[in-house]
Amino acid sequence: MNPEILLECRQVRMAFGGVLALNHTDLSVYRGEILGLVGPNGSGKTTLINVISGQYRPTGGQIRFQGADVTGARPNHLAHLGIARTYQIPRPFHSFTVLDNVAMAWMFGRRGHSREEARRRAHETLAFVGLAEKGHLAVDQLTLHERKFLELARALALEPQLLLLDEVLAGLNPAEVEMGLELIRQLHRQGITLVFVEHNVGAVARLSHRLAVLNYGETIAVGPPEAVLQDPAVVAAYLGEEYAAS
Ligand code: ADP
Ligand code: MG
Repeated sequence: MNPEILLECRQVRMAFGGVLALNHTDLSVYRGEILGLVGPNGSGKTTLINVISGQYRPTGGQIRFQGADVTGARPNHLAHLGIARTYQIPRPFHSFTVLDNVAMAWMFGRRGHSREEARRRAHETLAFVGLAEKGHLAVDQLTLHERKFLELARALALEPQLLLLDEVLAGLNPAEVEMGLELIRQLHRQGITLVFVEHNVGAVARLSHRLAVLNYGETIAVGPPEAVLQDPAVVAAYLGEEYAAS
């Protein structure tokens, strides 16, 4: 049986004035997989997440989710269809507690829970990401790594089918990275399809079923991690960059 394509980017273009951040980018994501999306700084990874999740309308090409054309759909609509993302720079609501940040997502997510039910579920989600004791705190009282996991909790409260992770592990120490990787493994076991953007190629390669490499907004390689990392085009793309493979 062929794997089901959950998300498909066809020849997607994103121009910002004269800057072509995505240039005829093709990418298919299979249901149930962990797809690692890597590439040098500025290669278009965040932009691709932004167009898939509806922050930007692409200036060309098509995005399909579960077989339907969703190009240019608004973020709320896509969230209801089952696409959630985290931000490279966390974007919590600073005036709310940690718990209420997650409860908000449960209230306005796919099934729209009542305030009490949303708070109950928010407790569970915080426990899952290791923030059980932090719910009553103001967001500003969290450390960087705790904010990253809060970001993940907010995305999970949307009950996604497809979760787009933009550098959730960046800036974390090795023990925190291991915690993050274990969470991602658990999400995969729960049936969530993951697109995992990370600058640290080594961490992504260990976890991903397939790797896709962007360079100047183009997909230059897709496939099993070992094969992709030995691809001469990929090695060349990383020349001059510190190869974050450890
Ligand atoms: P990555 O996440 O791979 O580091 P980005 O997607 O953030 O790369 O950026 C790709 C390119 O697009 C860069 O040249 C960046 O400067 C440009 N870019 C991204 N977002 C914008 C924007 N909102 N306005 C102008 N240029 C942008
Ligand atoms: Mg980025």
